[in-house]
Amino acid sequence: MNNWKFDTDGDVAIITWDMADRSMNVMTEEVIRELDAAVDKVLTDDSLKGAVITSAKSDMGGGVDLTMLANIKAQAAKEGGNVGEALFGFVWALHSLYRKIEVGGADPKTKKGGKVFAAATPGTALGGVFELLLGCHRRFAADNPKAKLGLPETLVGLFPGAGGTTRLVRMLGVMGAADYLLQGKLVNPKKAKAGMLIDEVVPQEELVSSAVAWVRDAKESDAVKPWDAKGFKLPGGAPYTPQGFPTFLGAIAMTHGKTAGVYPQTNAMLSAVYEGALVDMDNALKIEARWFTSVLMDPRSAAMIRSLFVNKQAIEKGARRPDVPDAKVKSVGIIGAGMMGAGIGFVSARAGIDVVLVDRDQEAADRGYATIEGLLDEGVKRKKVTEEAKAGILSKVNATSDYAALSGCDLIVEAVFEDPEIKAEVTQKVEAVIPKDAIFATNTSTLPITGLAEASARPDQFIGIHFFSPVHKMMLVEIIKGEKTGDLAVAKALDFVRQIKKTPIVVNDARFFYANRCIIPYLNEAMIMVGEGVNPSLIENAAKQLGMPVAPLQLTDETSLELGHRIMMATKAQMGDAYEASLADDVLLKLFESEGRAGRKNGKGFYDYDEKGKRQKLWPDLAKHFPHADEQPDFEEIQNRLILAQVLEAVRAKEEDVLVDIREGDVGAILGWGFAPWSGGPMSWIDLTGPKDVVAICDALEAKYGARFTAPALLKDIAAKGETFYGRFQPQQAAA
Ligand code: NAD
Repeated sequence: MNNWKFDTDGDVAIITWDMADRSMNVMTEEVIRELDAAVDKVLTDDSLKGAVITSAKSDMGGGVDLTMLANIKAQAAKEGGNVGEALFGFVWALHSLYRKIEVGGADPKTKKGGKVFAAATPGTALGGVFELLLGCHRRFAADNPKAKLGLPETLVGLFPGAGGTTRLVRMLGVMGAADYLLQGKLVNPKKAKAGMLIDEVVPQEELVSSAVAWVRDAKESDAVKPWDAKGFKLPGGAPYTPQGFPTFLGAIAMTHGKTAGVYPQTNAMLSAVYEGALVDMDNALKIEARWFTSVLMDPRSAAMIRSLFVNKQAIEKGARRPDVPDAKVKSVGIIGAGMMGAGIGFVSARAGIDVVLVDRDQEAADRGYATIEGLLDEGVKRKKVTEEAKAGILSKVNATSDYAALSGCDLIVEAVFEDPEIKAEVTQKVEAVIPKDAIFATNTSTLPITGLAEASARPDQFIGIHFFSPVHKMMLVEIIKGEKTGDLAVAKALDFVRQIKKTPIVVNDARFFYANRCIIPYLNEAMIMVGEGVNPSLIENAAKQLGMPVAPLQLTDETSLELGHRIMMATKAQMGDAYEASLADDVLLKLFESEGRAGRKNGKGFYDYDEKGKRQKLWPDLAKHFPHADEQPDFEEIQNRLILAQVLEAVRAKEEDVLVDIREGDVGAILGWGFAPWSGGPMSWIDLTGPKDVVAICDALEAKYGARFTAPALLKDIAAKGETFYGRFQPQQAAA
């Protein structure tokens, strides 16, 4: 066996997983075949009572190899075979193996004589690997607080389809399993035990011996799962019982409330849960496997897996990194200890990087330090950070007004006021004290990098690193190359983003870079509609039913109307006569300038907020200022306007070479502003909708609303040639 070791300790087999060529174990076809053979060996050897399945690595495993799933699909398609059959074959092999472990060779009628299997996980066990644990009769986990256990499949477009859904619902009931299944909630071993996901948490050094001892002492009944025993009742009740009916109704309503019904995997999972609850275990597993295969066949799931798993990982691993030596950051100097600077300081210190946090005077620097302390205190309160860890992180932060303290920094991130003159002055002051080979990055959100680099004596070492607010929560970081930015600066920025465990995209310089450039037209389109008299509730609901996690008027409130107003005024000033005012300007001016409504920050925006800042209903007077039109537009047209405002801007960014790689455009859109994740991102959305159909929608909207909906030449060309975005730019990934 290449991936497993088979030992025995008396009458107990120990099957140990250790893939030679991977740092983390994952389920592949070969792994499954070999484990199947090892299980057969246990079942057919009379001298063995059962087995412990464990791992020689620090973790058990990361799940099913999704790249392999994509390959099975591509291979079957290439050979002209039946793709569904090929995928079902793989899924069913996994199901059969886990069920074989669970039944343990017991007599099907009497349920007697089964072998006992215990799982012993030293660390993390996710997805398809956690489902292996669920198949076993008892689960042991080492007391490793860093370990993560659970079923994150739904977050990448799948659902736990190797028996996990069916087993968890039978263990915890439909409501008890909901957080794990629907939200992919991961927990450490202690919490997993409290939640009844695992049975025992033991010291690392006693992990295997405890599991072996349990197998050795196990009773015959230990080899029979509750759902295989007579009289089993689903916790919380099955669908057609007085107790279960409202539970299932609630679960269905809750799921749709959370997902707007746009995610194929949650709908399929619900069906698997519901239908599975009506039949016995073997049939329930078949149902689950079929629904799971249907999800694997759904192009939306494939697009989600492509963006949220395969490409996100490729980008994080450095798909766009220039080939230069390791440029990890040891000491980062952050200039400006305001909201952004403090946030960047926090995530850097947390990643073990030394931080010099500089502001104009000691008081301002201390405020930044206090912000970091506040974030850590929150972590302590929520038991995510220990007091020792807090002290360790804070000891990495030197808050000062003395620029000389920057002399040892290899990376600078400037986050002072958004004013080119102040930024230029700071650049020169900093460059006078930092090492000659240090990289200087600016966190500007609107000012072109090439212009800011003019203040630098070393423009090849000058770059944009654009964080999103709040820094500690937002996962995307945009890296912006100015005209003269060199490879070393790009590598440094990428290595830094990797160290702080965020996802980078690398784009070229242009007004608003990539993300903001796409978000602004989306928010504007919603405000234009308000100006036209479209009922704001209709706008918000249209966005939500598109699968946008935050509706546009709500998002405008969150980011603040003040910021929207400031951007509008600055753009107007910069563009002069070329600026085209729209109804969005009128709405902004009315709400912010005339009515003093700045958004959530002052408790009044498109929505009203209570004293605690909790969002209430839409501002009733909005309709007085912008009366609802007698005839409201078609819901689908509102949706098309909202999605195309984003999508067309992404296409223009690609056309203008601001966006270099469409994979980054898709991943960046989902992580940066929550672009409908079910679609896999704007380019994937076009491919799913069909480029020709998208052009037709553009033509109709252009005729009605003007040039902002004109299909860009790149889109027209792709449509005219019958191609897709992935077909043209990422041909090996076009199969989704
Ligand atoms: P902020 O006003 O909260 O903080 C700016 C800090 O810079 C203040 O503490 C100020 O005292 C300090 N400062 C000003 N001049 C300085 C100087 N000469 N030397 C040292 N320190 C000086 O602003 P912020 O929201 O943190 O934004 C900072 C930068 O980040 C801006 O360029 C902004 O465009 C950009 N940005 C902001 C956001 C956002 O959502 N707020 C998002 C991305 C990027």
